[in-house]
Amino acid sequence: MEDCIFCKIIKGEIPSAKVFESDKIVAFNDINPKAKVHILIVPKKHIESVKHLQGGDKDLIGEIFLTTQKIAKEKNLEGYRLIINVGREGGQLVDHLHLHLLSGDANMNSL
Ligand code: AMP
Repeated sequence: MEDCIFCKIIKGEIPSAKVFESDKIVAFNDINPKAKVHILIVPKKHIESVKHLQGGDKDLIGEIFLTTQKIAKEKNLEGYRLIINVGREGGQLVDHLHLHLLSGDANMNSL
């Protein structure tokens, strides 16, 4: 947890381009964008991954999605893709739960 890069961003120890912040959630631009819009929506609580979610996190999960919807509305995104990688085999590199919001990519229909 002390070495968690997203915890450091949340604490302000590492700079980030924040687009949203509340008491429970922060959202910032991905440093290595894979689309025109690539925002990470991150709970402030350190939860390693979807695998580590518990019943008590239900409200937080809802808030992550509603925050994503709010950001997408504010940015006038007509359509977007949401991705959550889980575990190394699932492509997760940062072990702090986060949702990728992607939009404006030419390959958006590839899946
Ligand atoms: P994942 O592979 O799902 O764990 O995604 C981690 C994402 O975090 C990648 O898309 C990285 O580009 C992004 N990332 C890593 N470090 C930073 C940082 N300091 N600021 C913003 N995004 C970052």
